[in-house]
Amino acid sequence: MRRQLEDGAWRYRVGIAMWQTTTAAGVAAAEYLVWVTPEQVRPIDGIDYSTVATERPVVEVPEPAGARWGWRVRRMSGGRTVVHVHDCPESGGGSEVSLDEALTELRRARASACKTCEAAEALTPLV
Ligand SMILES: [Zn+2]
Repeated sequence: MRRQLEDGAWRYRVGIAMWQTTTAAGVAAAEYLVWVTPEQVRPIDGIDYSTVATERPVVEVPEPAGARWGWRVRRMSGGRTVVHVHDCPESGGGSEVSLDEALTELRRARASACKTCEAAEALTPLV
C-alpha cells in the first residue's frame, strides 16, 4: 500500500520478513508491516507496482459561489405554479424549496418549470 500525506509526501507500507518466537514452535517466520519514506525504499526490478492500493488525502473542493442549487415556487394567477432556480429574476420572491419539494410541486397539475432559468432543463428529466 502507498499513501500520500496532506503535504504531498509519500509513505509506503512494506512487509519485512523476520522471525518471531512462539509458545508452540519456538521460532517461526513472520512478516512485520512498516511504513517507510521514499528514501528508505526503492522499487525491485521486474515487479509491477501498478496495482498497489493507493490512498490520497481527501481534498475538500470549495463550492464556487452561485453554484448552489436551490429552487423557488412562484404561485401565479389561476392556481398555476412555476418552479424556478432560486436566483431566477422571474421567481418573483416565491418560496424557497428543496429539490424534493420542487419535484413534488412539478408533479402537480398546473405546475411547470421555468424555461427562462435552468429549472426546466434541470428538473424535467427528474419528474
Ligand atoms: Zn426561472
